Amino acid sequence: MSEIVKKARVKHGGSLKGRVVKVSSKKGSFETPTKAPTSTEINGKRNISFDGPFINPVFEISQRYLKKENVQNLHRKNGTFNRKISEINAYTDSLIDRYLVKYFPQIPSGIELDDRDIRILIDLQLESNINLITIPEPSNNCSSTDFHDNFTKYWEYIAEVKPTATAMPYINLKQDHNLFENKLNLLKEYEHALHTIGIKFASIREYRPNLMSLAEFSEHDFWVHCSDGRRVSNWRALSPGGQLHALQRYGIDTVSIEIPMGGGSISDKDYTTARYFNQTSVTIPKIIDSVDSEGNLECNCPICSGQNLGEVAENLKRYASTKKPLRSVVSDFSKVHEVFASTNEFEISKQKIKEDSLKEYFDEKEGLKEHNST
Ligand SMILES: [Zn+2]
Repeated sequence: MSEIVKKARVKHGGSLKGRVVKVSSKKGSFETPTKAPTSTEINGKRNISFDGPFINPVFEISQRYLKKENVQNLHRKNGTFNRKISEINAYTDSLIDRYLVKYFPQIPSGIELDDRDIRILIDLQLESNINLITIPEPSNNCSSTDFHDNFTKYWEYIAEVKPTATAMPYINLKQDHNLFENKLNLLKEYEHALHTIGIKFASIREYRPNLMSLAEFSEHDFWVHCSDGRRVSNWRALSPGGQLHALQRYGIDTVSIEIPMGGGSISDKDYTTARYFNQTSVTIPKIIDSVDSEGNLECNCPICSGQNLGEVAENLKRYASTKKPLRSVVSDFSKVHEVFASTNEFEISKQKIKEDSLKEYFDEKEGLKEHNST
């Protein structure tokens, strides 16, 4: 029995030019960069009964733990562990035959996980239908030794309990620069034995030095996935840039979004202000700003297909209620659109990387320009 991911090889690029990694697995092979849809986006699809499938090679099921106590409940409160497994499998059942499926526990940075916390999070994945197993970092800013001990211990544990699974050790982007670099260098020693590395997202501007290290690391044969991604750095901007597309410059191969908090005020009933990914500019303006002069959505993805926004909203009304205003339903529509449109845009940038013109591509995109200064 061999593990599900067979190998990851850098095919093109490196450093700040972006890169194409070919990942070979028992579920087929794919090339990066690309987007990994999450359970949040699958929920969006279910909420509006949209049947068209997402065709992506990797999916991420995420669950949010707001406090340490929520993680502890997995091993201190009967029933919690079992309930979480049922929730995970409700997603994986329809995906596991065809795709790589990973799990991400969304835990605030700063929480220190004990060994028992980490073990239960790994057992949760081993006992669910997950085939890419997240090994959480004990805490951001834990020592390199603690990081190494934790990673090697659980890598062995996973290999023993479920030899067909692939381990993905996570490093928090939010940490001291030297520590971050030391941890990356530790993983370098396992190139070609360990295939994947997970990065927990943090502010691109603030943690730029760490991203620079990651860009320099990009000559190495690892598939680097980023979870917990924030779609924009500042929602107040009129047309905030789609920063998850900027990560490809730093050697990040696949990206997943965070589970959003709340999602706007319930009193905001104006659906036209729902945010919507604009593929042409790689920005996330209000949906009303992505229609042409006749009010048609300027997107041909399977859910938009150039429809009139007013008609789309009219059709979505049946999913709205007093608890869920139309704007929130339109946001679900927008989430589904973004999976298609963002994945499609990654296909375009992948081509640009192959042509060594990622920098020029960034220059052309309003939402990516600001990430082009290095
Ligand atoms: Zn669309």
